[in-house]
This record gives sequence, C-alpha cells and structure tokens, in this order.
Amino acid sequence: MSVTNIDPEIIRLLKGSGARMTQKRQRILEALSSFDRPATAEEVRERAGLAPSDLVTVYRNLEAFQKVQILQRLPLENGTHLFELTAPGEHYHHLICRHCHKAERLDVCLSKSMEAKAKAKGFSQISHLLEVYGVCEDCRA
Ligand SMILES: [Zn+2]
Ligand SMILES: [Zn+2]
Repeated sequence: MSVTNIDPEIIRLLKGSGARMTQKRQRILEALSSFDRPATAEEVRERAGLAPSDLVTVYRNLEAFQKVQILQRLPLENGTHLFELTAPGEHYHHLICRHCHKAERLDVCLSKSMEAKAKAKGFSQISHLLEVYGVCEDCRA
C-alpha cells in the first residue's frame, strides 16, 4: 500500500514521536485523509477496512495522531466525537448539524484575544475549543 496520499510531514511527525508506521496505522491515516469532512471513529474503521474488533486500535491511533497535533477531535452535543486531519499544529472551528452531524469548517478563529488573556495570567500550552451547533438546511426540510 502506498503512502502517496498522506502528507509526508504527517509521516515525519509520527516517526519523530516514536510511533511505528504499522499497516493498520497507515490504513487509518489513509481512511482519515480520504474523508472530505470530519468523521466518526466507526466511519474511519469501516473505510480503513478494519474489523469491528479493531475499533479499540482505531481509537488508540486517533489518540496518537492527536498527540502530535495532526488530528482534531470535534465534540458533538451527544458526548461522541468527530475526527479530522489537520495541517500540523493547525486547528479549525466548525458549523455542526446536530441531526446529521455534517460538519463544515468555519474560516474564522475568534479566540486569539482570549488566548492572549490566558497567557497574561501565566498559562502556557494554551488551546481552545469552539464549535457552533445548529440544524442544517437539509435536515430542516
Ligand atoms: Zn443536518
Ligand atoms: Zn481558534
């Protein structure tokens, strides 16, 4: 299996963190990068062609990807999550439909001034979460 559709920078970061490039890990990465929208862990598992019993492996990999900051975890209102590959160190905010869980990127980040305040209070390794929930046009119809 080729790694051509995976950002080489992502491979480099993973290897740098000591993560071995296993075949499952590669399939999970390829599955993630094949989505044009944030997906559930179950959807990632299915697209990676892994068995239901591999869901734990999928979650373990998603955690490893989050650790090297190439994956963003989007909380849903029901307590579950969607996952999306990001450019290394980047983050996005989304507009999420609470019915069909369609999530699209919002091209804004309103939190720079909040982070400056956190920094002024002596915090380091600051991050923030902001997702907007609603009902999309398709679901309203
Ligand atoms: Zn919807
Ligand atoms: Zn932001």
